[in-house]
Amino acid sequence: MAKPEIIEIKCPFCGYEKIKANFYPSVLQTAVSRSAAKGSVTKFYRTKEKYEVLSDCEKCGKKAKEIEKALKDGIKDPEKEKKIEDRLKQQGLFIPEIKTKLK
Ligand SMILES: [Zn+2]
Repeated sequence: MAKPEIIEIKCPFCGYEKIKANFYPSVLQTAVSRSAAKGSVTKFYRTKEKYEVLSDCEKCGKKAKEIEKALKDGIKDPEKEKKIEDRLKQQGLFIPEIKTKLK
């Protein structure tokens, strides 16, 4: 498991920006599957990024667990998805063409 970074996130309920959380970034992983017909095929997949909320919201009083759940159920944020891809690209890890097939 990747090491978490401690970041400050926005409360999904009231927008208060000083919620402390452990952030486990999305990482690229590979899985090799073997089949008689195709030989071994390497698949890339991205793990989900994860937040572990460490503090309650001082402003609206939501508990850390509630905030965490709201983040997990989360609203899809295309801009954030894009940022993750950009970061993986910078690390030379993101290879869109090779999602399903690699010899
Ligand atoms: Zn709040």
